[in-house]
Amino acid sequence: MTADVRAAGEALAAECARYTAMGWMRGTSGNLSVVVDRDPLTLAVTVSGKDKGELTADDVVLVDARGTTEDPVRVPSAEAGLHGRIAAVSGAGAVVHVHALAPVVAAERWPGGVELRDLEMLKGFGRRADDVVTVPVVPNSQDMGVLGDAFEAGFRADVPALLVARHGVYVWGDDLLRARHRLECLEWLLRFKVETGGVR
Ligand SMILES: [Zn+2]
Repeated sequence: MTADVRAAGEALAAECARYTAMGWMRGTSGNLSVVVDRDPLTLAVTVSGKDKGELTADDVVLVDARGTTEDPVRVPSAEAGLHGRIAAVSGAGAVVHVHALAPVVAAERWPGGVELRDLEMLKGFGRRADDVVTVPVVPNSQDMGVLGDAFEAGFRADVPALLVARHGVYVWGDDLLRARHRLECLEWLLRFKVETGGVR
């Protein structure tokens, strides 16, 4: 493992510990990635099946745009293929995926997309407080190709998030810090939406 990949693993482990503490990566759920090369697209993604609050710098694996790896030992998350698709289409440098509850409840109630408006916290998502932002929702699938096609069909460059019904949320940004800030603010926005019943 090169120093670069190890540094990526260390950063991913720290972010996972933070999200676990927030209750967003229960059990072994969720996965994070950072782009380490653009040509060909290569991502460092968290390994599958480990407690996300206890990852180390070694719990990272390199995958290509399809989420496949040549690593003989480490197993990437099954969802690595969607990370690759999101990074390829959006140009993001980091993709975060957690199983927070509010995004899933919001997707359940508004399966055609979750509309957010007139909320100061939209600024933390990179938008203006008076913007109308519709976060896309796609049906869940175990097939990353199906999920990737659904994501790409609804992709908008100014909405860096995707809700997967009955599953979780993906958010992306230039780096892990910006992706985290967007995720934290989006989770707040979706919790507000759910808890107010969609009242403006
Ligand atoms: Zn998931």
